[in-house]
Amino acid sequence: MAFIPLRTCVSCRKKAQKSDFFRMIRTPKGIVKIADDLGENGRGVYLCKNRECVERAFQGKKKGIVSHFLKVPVETEVILEKLVQMIKLSP
Ligand SMILES: [Zn+2]
Repeated sequence: MAFIPLRTCVSCRKKAQKSDFFRMIRTPKGIVKIADDLGENGRGVYLCKNRECVERAFQGKKKGIVSHFLKVPVETEVILEKLVQMIKLSP
């Protein structure tokens, strides 16, 4: 049986394959961005592809958690807006 590594959502702690999550990475320049494809390297955090988890990680109880994990400041509004847009676009 193939071993499938599981990732954890930083917002709700749910575990799933990484393809089920949005991934944010810290670039070598110390900027947080949403990884375009799962192969992009860098320290990363995962978030469920739903509005609840995304908003909680940036505005609610878990505000600041992405920045905490990546150890750099996050442009919250920019990232949040992009993620919400991606959720809207996904089927
Ligand atoms: Zn989640």
